[in-house]
Amino acid sequence: MRVGGVGTLFGTNGVRGIANEELTAEVALDLGRTIATLKGGKIAIACDTRISSSMLKCSVAAGIMSCGSDVVDLGIAPTPALQFYVKNTNCSAGVIVTASHNPREYNGIKFVQDNGAEFFREMDEESERVFMSKKFKKADWSCVGKLLEDECYEMYVEAIVDSVDLDRRYRVVADCGNGAACFTTPEILKKLECDFLTINAHPDGRFPVRNPEPAEENLELLKKAVLDFKADIGVAHDGDADRAVFIDENGRFVSEDDILALMARYYVEKKKGIVVTPVSTSKRVEDVVREAGGEVIYTAVGSPVVAKVMMENNAVFGGEGNGGLIFPEHLLARDGGMSIAKILQLMDEKGKSLSELAAEIPKYFMLKGKVPCKDKVKLLKKLVEDFPEANSTDGIRIDFEDGWLLIRPSGTEPIARIYAEGKNKEKAEELYDFGVKVVKKILG
Ligand code: MG
Repeated sequence: MRVGGVGTLFGTNGVRGIANEELTAEVALDLGRTIATLKGGKIAIACDTRISSSMLKCSVAAGIMSCGSDVVDLGIAPTPALQFYVKNTNCSAGVIVTASHNPREYNGIKFVQDNGAEFFREMDEESERVFMSKKFKKADWSCVGKLLEDECYEMYVEAIVDSVDLDRRYRVVADCGNGAACFTTPEILKKLECDFLTINAHPDGRFPVRNPEPAEENLELLKKAVLDFKADIGVAHDGDADRAVFIDENGRFVSEDDILALMARYYVEKKKGIVVTPVSTSKRVEDVVREAGGEVIYTAVGSPVVAKVMMENNAVFGGEGNGGLIFPEHLLARDGGMSIAKILQLMDEKGKSLSELAAEIPKYFMLKGKVPCKDKVKLLKKLVEDFPEANSTDGIRIDFEDGWLLIRPSGTEPIARIYAEGKNKEKAEELYDFGVKVVKKILG
């Protein structure tokens, strides 16, 4: 975490850093003062299961109260559960303490709007200005805020369960990853009348069994449990349960891109309309959305901007290719708990297994890499000149008949990221090599 002026404190998902080293109690205190200064009113807070989360949450709470706002402490909760609570109560804002999928030594602090969405970029920038200036609205001794307590699980779980209607009982194995999902996902499965088994379902901020990132290589135990339990699906969350990834009935990992495409197709079939996703997303989403009569809008990378563009365009669905799905009728934010309910609903309506559904999605092969880039301004300017037809939302995405190429200078490192996707490995390699050549030619 490098704090060197506006634009350096908040990343794409709030403030992140190593707990008590970079992200200290002092930083958390000033972030609490910042949000209370900006929003006033009553502010809800919650945290994930990390060892440092209580310390940081208490510090945020003290900062908020010192500026005259009341705090509603929701304890440990998934990020979407806090967001849903803020949306549906009279809170003026929310704060979640979590480092999501990052390793155990990290933590993070993220601000939530009164509509439940994460702070958009311009709001983070405004927050940074207040944070840096230290011009907080400090309250008189007699006007400091109160510390209230509430719980947010019930309304969140009810809303998810009420949004689907399953005809049969499903067998599910849920890997809660010792994170915030321990408090809600078993409850969701119980209320959906599933026969279920949970693993890593006790809160433990040391993450003793697996890394909080639900990457395929961390899910061997889940795959085995799915087969042993003869489950219809397996699901795994990241540390704050805003993401969910799935294992099919054969114990195989289903790519997040396939899940995103399946859900996008399902929503467009039902409601037509617009799907929003970042420029780094697999073409398979656009293919199925178009075929179903919908339209894709590409955004810059990061879930807050996806949510913002969804709101502006009244989109029916949106999400990222990392297991983060956004169901706007419920919440303008990624929601791992709702993802489980919707996948089961999809299987129920289509009468198909998850592997059968995933097989219906057109397949592409994606390559990702990076090249050194010292002059980002020059690179971007020349790319836009050379490829005027390309999408320049975030770097430049050039679409070809059977694939695409994204060249995206990094915001924080002297590199440009290259993504290439083709119908097969050869095509992806060809596009990737072309991308490297283009960058080298421009930068010399
Ligand atoms: Mg997360």
